[in-house]
Amino acid sequence: EGTGVTVLGLGAMGSALAATLLDAGHAVTVWNRTPDRAAELSARGAEAASAVGAAVDAHRLVVACLLDHASVHETLDPVIAGMRGSSLVNLTTTTPNEARELAAWAAGHGVGYLDGAIMATPPMIGAPEASILYSGSRPVFDAARPVLDRWATSTYDGEDSGLASLFDLAMLSGMYTMFAGFLHGAAMAGTGGMSATDFAARATPFLSAMTMGFALDATVIDGGDYTVPGQQSLEFTDLSHSHIVRASEEQGVNPALIAAVRELISKQIAAGRGAEGSARLYESFRADSTDS
Ligand code: NDP
Repeated sequence: EGTGVTVLGLGAMGSALAATLLDAGHAVTVWNRTPDRAAELSARGAEAASAVGAAVDAHRLVVACLLDHASVHETLDPVIAGMRGSSLVNLTTTTPNEARELAAWAAGHGVGYLDGAIMATPPMIGAPEASILYSGSRPVFDAARPVLDRWATSTYDGEDSGLASLFDLAMLSGMYTMFAGFLHGAAMAGTGGMSATDFAARATPFLSAMTMGFALDATVIDGGDYTVPGQQSLEFTDLSHSHIVRASEEQGVNPALIAAVRELISKQIAAGRGAEGSARLYESFRADSTDS
């Protein structure tokens, strides 16, 4: 028994969110643009609303898990005026500015807004290994906490509703470029006859061990001095990258990914930073950097 919740959007993720709440004994009203996706949850005890207006009227806590920013407006624009006093927890992936726009729009209609970024796949929902980042209204976060904690480990990142999405996308950027690097490496090893399976078996412990370098780089970055001793210099890193680029070319493998990283390193060296530590590459990405 707990707070009643409305869940809008019953894709893979929305369905997992709603099912977890049903299992925990919450009263759940669901709505999906394509109504037949509600059938399974209905059979498990959810109330299926035939119109979005009826869905948002059913409970004061409304959760949206739709496709993108535009689909949130498309779904809620017609009914937001009637939602004054309700809380909207938006778990739809958006950019930071899109989340901020939704927060202002909701506030303009007297609706409390909490943005959420899900760092999990649908089968992980309900387990503590799943993580969801939140930002926006602190009162909504605190009040909804018993519901939010059913899904995942909840982290509140601040009043700026764009932060959850920003921090989520920052983590995903790290993940995707590491995956791309893995695939490039697999293609290189493949030209020597190694299967991708064998390459994965070798790469996994190596790359896992190397992630300790994140904290070392972070200490240098936060210390603000890239000349501190004990780091691999940009010149050395450049040489290492040049070997990978040339080996890729020799083996007929597309070097574009590693060449793009080398390009950033080269610019730092051209700016006279070659003897500094490779953590300096952070400056090549920094928004207000003057030496990228
Ligand atoms: P699905 O593609 O499975 O479902 C998309 C949902 O959005 C469906 O319910 C669909 O309705 C609805 N939808 C799409 N366009 C509109 C629209 N214009 N108006 C109303 N409803 C619309 O996606 P997921 O459930 O996997 O993802 C939902 C959100 O969760 C996304 O923002 C995604 O980025 C995020 N997310 C997903 C993760 C995952 O692993 N799946 C991980 C982290 C975040 P219909 O059935 O009618 O098409």
